[in-house]
Amino acid sequence: MKTVTVFRGDGIGPEICDAVLEILKSAKAKVTFECFEVGAMEYERNGKLMPDEAYASFERNKVLLKAPITTPIGKGFRSLNVTLRNKYDLYANIRPAKSNPAIVTPFPNVDLVTFRENTEDLYVGVEKVIDEDTVHATKIITRKASERIIRDAFAYALSNHRHKVTCVHKANILKQSDGMFLAIFYDIAKEYPSIMADDKIVDNVCMQLVMHPQAFDVLVMPNLYGDIVSDLTSGLIGGLGLLPSCNIGKTYAMFEAVHGSAPDIVGKHIANPTALLLSACMMLDYLKEEETASRIRTAVDEVLKEAVSLTPDLHGTATTQQYCDAIIEHLL
Ligand code: NAD
Repeated sequence: MKTVTVFRGDGIGPEICDAVLEILKSAKAKVTFECFEVGAMEYERNGKLMPDEAYASFERNKVLLKAPITTPIGKGFRSLNVTLRNKYDLYANIRPAKSNPAIVTPFPNVDLVTFRENTEDLYVGVEKVIDEDTVHATKIITRKASERIIRDAFAYALSNHRHKVTCVHKANILKQSDGMFLAIFYDIAKEYPSIMADDKIVDNVCMQLVMHPQAFDVLVMPNLYGDIVSDLTSGLIGGLGLLPSCNIGKTYAMFEAVHGSAPDIVGKHIANPTALLLSACMMLDYLKEEETASRIRTAVDEVLKEAVSLTPDLHGTATTQQYCDAIIEHLL
């Protein structure tokens, strides 16, 4: 039995996290959980975003299921999400966006995967106030970080029978930083002759994703573009409530929904737990519990297809608990 660390997060985090744990237990996943309160509410309670035991648990178990955590905008503490990604070198943020036939959107048959570099770029958060009217922010791109995320994207494409990897950049303007990322991309592409490699400027990618999303397969990009483009891809498949992700390094792995703490719906019991649940399925795959992951995914598909117990973001009227109960009923 594998032990996994769980951060219940804040905002809608505890609501969706409890639903997901209930489903994992009902599916008899061979996993036990060490749960911790982290984030803004914990900060108000004891002045720390994360108790020391929570760090210790993750360092022991090496696998973390994390619900969303609020980050104050324009002030306050540094994002705990970014801190975790850096502290544990979770350099590859992998975000698969696949249409579900039961969710009708203007964009059928989307099936693409975003590889977002997770440790540098403007996300290093280095900002310098030059004078009261001028602030500089530092964008960092290194060869080491670029090579490993790009190589992972090609390796993933090869082992998952994908045919193309697209590099997303702004090297027309950022000729040195994104220019180096792009040059490394084409160097590594030579090691994978069976995978098609192309590149596109990020603004063009945003337009093409909503015109011809089916033309994309695997996409790899620096941190900030990955953040923005992957939210866009969630819109293609029906919204943020559906998009899972994992953050993987050489030693540690963290699984989380792409969305945030959704302050506008906190406490209404209408949050959609699917994104965190599918992230938990990615975690089960990682732990070699593919059979349990597959049963949960099938139950999700059936509940979405029946369209009786959908949450309001999917145009239903069910609560988080009713949706969760429906999935449990459909577990084989
Ligand atoms: P958000 O993703 O929390 O919400 C955007 C919109 O999507 C909202 O209308 C929200 O109601 C809806 N939404 C999101 N998840 C949903 C779900 N599961 N079910 C139904 N509707 C859902 O983005 P935001 O409002 O810009 O950010 C809120 C906070 O979350 C910020 O503090 C931000 O820093 C933080 N955040 C955290 C993470 C993370 O923990 N990994 C990721 C993104 C944002």
